Amino acid sequence: MRYAVLSDVHANLEALTAVLADAASEGALGILCLGDTVGYGADPVPCVELLGERSTRIVAGNHEHGVLGLVDLRWFNAAAPAALWTRERLGGDHQGFLSGLPLVSAIGEATCVHASPRRPEEWDYLVSEEDGYGAFGEFETRLCFVGHSHLPAVWSLGSGGPAHEDLAGAACHDRRISFHDGRRYIVNVGSVGQPRDRDPRAAYVLWDEDDRSVRLRRVSYDHTEAAAKILRAGLPRALADRLARGM
Ligand code: ZN
Repeated sequence: MRYAVLSDVHANLEALTAVLADAASEGALGILCLGDTVGYGADPVPCVELLGERSTRIVAGNHEHGVLGLVDLRWFNAAAPAALWTRERLGGDHQGFLSGLPLVSAIGEATCVHASPRRPEEWDYLVSEEDGYGAFGEFETRLCFVGHSHLPAVWSLGSGGPAHEDLAGAACHDRRISFHDGRRYIVNVGSVGQPRDRDPRAAYVLWDEDDRSVRLRRVSYDHTEAAAKILRAGLPRALADRLARGM
């Protein structure tokens, strides 16, 4: 079975549809969604509907909790206006769906969580080598998929010692990581809808259970249209401008 593992769509429908098309052409039959489907972008309703319908597994991120009022929006800084805008647009059905999402969901050899398997509701960022190594005691499966930082990376522990690889930037497109016996892995799949590694293309990961590997994909999409929608919606200009820079 091959899955598309994606995170941080952030209501960017252009990026999401481009990623789903790429995943289908690469033979992905399932979707694992790691949360932050909403926030920042102009299309929260279609993104929630598409992923709610298509995902094999879907968990909540801090932006779902912000929109639902479960996280104090003072922690959201510049993202707070978009969270309030999103809350107004999501009807009761959609808010009910989001409020029912778990924080952690396991499937096969993988654990899916938005930020960190360690205290998932604290929304810690796994960025440094130590951040990742410190989280291996907090899940029991061989793999853990995370998002949240919008920066693709992989950590592994086991026979042969610790290893970390930064997968940020354009050069890592189509990079394959094969899983070795006696090792466990944490994979940050990057962001579909708001990449922050100076590559404006959407990022996601293909997980092949039989081949025992992941492959990072970068997918071009119409970021000009996604940015124009953000401006037309009256959301902050900075949220539109950053899409072309991948920052
Ligand atoms: Zn995010």
